[in-house]
Amino acid sequence: MKNYFYAIIALFILNSCKINPYRLSDRSYKKQIKAYQKSIGNADTKPLENGQTPKWISTVNFNLRKPNFVVIHHTAQDSLQQTLRTFTLSKTQVSAHYVISDDGTVVQMLNDYLRAWHGGNASWGKNTDINSASIGIELDNNGFEPFSEAQINSLVALLTRLKKDYNIPTNNIIAHSDIAPSRKADPSAFFPWKNLAALGFGFWPEDQLEKAPDYFNVEQALRIIGYNTQNLSSAIKAFKLHYIQTEVDDTLDEKTINTIYSIYKKQ
Ligand SMILES: [Zn+2]
Repeated sequence: MKNYFYAIIALFILNSCKINPYRLSDRSYKKQIKAYQKSIGNADTKPLENGQTPKWISTVNFNLRKPNFVVIHHTAQDSLQQTLRTFTLSKTQVSAHYVISDDGTVVQMLNDYLRAWHGGNASWGKNTDINSASIGIELDNNGFEPFSEAQINSLVALLTRLKKDYNIPTNNIIAHSDIAPSRKADPSAFFPWKNLAALGFGFWPEDQLEKAPDYFNVEQALRIIGYNTQNLSSAIKAFKLHYIQTEVDDTLDEKTINTIYSIYKKQ
């Protein structure tokens, strides 16, 4: 009986000592949160250029700023573990709010109100700090395979909650390739944008496309949708990766022009 008791105690101790591979990043996360709490809570002001230092008088009416975009990525890695490792090492300087594995498991890596490093140098419309305004979702996918049903179901559940909690406009649920067309091509053409649009996440062109008028300006329309058109060919390609997934190139044929017109009209 006594031995049995000791065995139970030993098992308990062993279990509580089980090494959590992410204990260092957990600790660092908590430490950073504490530092931010302190700096946000400080009632101090900075001197202006003219030498005046603003006086502090606290208001009572405020809350937290909310994300207004969701950016979807594929990880281009081979497993969830590999991605989690990448996002918990400080030398990589990349992260996302959520990672969804192939089997549908959702991992959250930082609070929605905090700024993850997933967009890089990116813009959508006049917004040039997408990381500050967005939630980043990474889908565990190597870029050359279809997205699993379980993964997309979890993504839909997550998008449903985010869209409701933060009142995110449907046109602000976008791809990494949309916000960084000359650098990125994720998520791949396998990504089911059409199905998502049918559920209220993003736009999709009509089956019967209306012919764009002769005066229709493609570059201007892409810019109004949100694309950075400095490199027009990249913007066209990114648009096609999202809306004409069977022809991902920079060819401006009639179908492409009419599809751009269709999405432009929805703005
Ligand atoms: Zn990406």
